[in-house]
Amino acid sequence: MQIHTPATPLTSRLRDRLATVQFRQRYRRRRHLEGPQGREICLDNKTLLNFCSNDYLGLANDPRIIAALKRGADQYGVGSGASHLVVGHSRVHQQLELALADFTQRERALVFTNGYSANMAVIRALAGEGDVVWQDCLNHASLLDGGWISRAEVRWFAHRDYHQLQQLLRDTELQSEQQHLIASDGVFSMDGDMADIASLTHIARTHNACLMIDDAHGFGVLGEQGRGSVSACEFNGEAVPVLVGTLGKAFGTAGAFVAGSDELIEWLIQSARNYIFSTAMPSAIAAATLCSLHIVQTEQWRRDHLNELIHYFSHCARQMQLPLLHSTTPIQPLLLNDSATCLRVSQALEQLGIYAAAIRPPTVPENSSRIRVTLSAAHCRSDIDKLIEALVKSIRA
Ligand SMILES: *Cc1c(COP(=O)(O)O)cnc(C)c1O
Repeated sequence: MQIHTPATPLTSRLRDRLATVQFRQRYRRRRHLEGPQGREICLDNKTLLNFCSNDYLGLANDPRIIAALKRGADQYGVGSGASHLVVGHSRVHQQLELALADFTQRERALVFTNGYSANMAVIRALAGEGDVVWQDCLNHASLLDGGWISRAEVRWFAHRDYHQLQQLLRDTELQSEQQHLIASDGVFSMDGDMADIASLTHIARTHNACLMIDDAHGFGVLGEQGRGSVSACEFNGEAVPVLVGTLGKAFGTAGAFVAGSDELIEWLIQSARNYIFSTAMPSAIAAATLCSLHIVQTEQWRRDHLNELIHYFSHCARQMQLPLLHSTTPIQPLLLNDSATCLRVSQALEQLGIYAAAIRPPTVPENSSRIRVTLSAAHCRSDIDKLIEALVKSIRA
């Protein structure tokens, strides 16, 4: 049944805004996925090679994790029923938190329903009026929003410009009770480049600032056993006291976690609004994630294969003089700048059987639209050959 709402001031205002979005080539449409994530996906009844999921290790449809989810549902049901503090915190949530603390080599970890709310919660719980939150200008939207909502002063530094950050910090005086919080992505989600954790820890130490790293794209992919960008450079909980990771990307499930000291986690439990006033992650998801965490740590071949594909793709793309950004992670963006061009290339790729989405402002800065290619351990070399061939055809068309 089609429902028609009579025009109201709200609908006409929104219609104008939507027209503007469309005019600026920024209109987004949702596609209908007919099955699981994988190297191939079925999208609107068409089978396409998938180069835009964050399922970096190919675990989103792993039979062992599916079985763990089913067992979890048999034991705990589907809904978690309440927040963690009321009656939603199960034995398997607790086990997952212990396993994540061990994985990140931190005293404790705390599970959230998603990364967006974990980031908001942490910044709001750690910074307030009079404090300063420092953000890399390419940080994820959830870090930026956490800064705004915290009521602290939000200040930016140019992307990976740690010299500028140091100078700005040097020129900023704080009252004795107040503090600096520096927040950065570990791997930047739209560029695929990495924060220089060594510089950040040095700056944080020099200026007595708290350092928070959101490693949504690093966990599972980088470091020994996939322990992420921070452990890849061997920094402990003193140098990086606040670590955030998400579970919906390389782990292939859903949710997020914060890892750090006993005091940090206890403070979040007592004060983080997104934690306190939100229904717990379903226990079955926690059970599935425990299984996935074990696979992430033990199946090194997934990272080895993924790294081989990354090298192969960037080598071929450079040889074909494609406009590839410099990245050593599975995020391999091709910078096309203009949104209309980017959409045209994405559509041409689809005609050739390849799905790689056009990423446009406001997700990326003005005039920096791109095809964000992501690679996965589920791909094979011949998939990369097909991708390169299709990219050459579509971009040069
Ligand atoms: C995806 C992402 C998030 C949000 O995590 P969700 O679990 O998807 O809400 C946070 N930070 C970064 C850097 C991300 O890429």
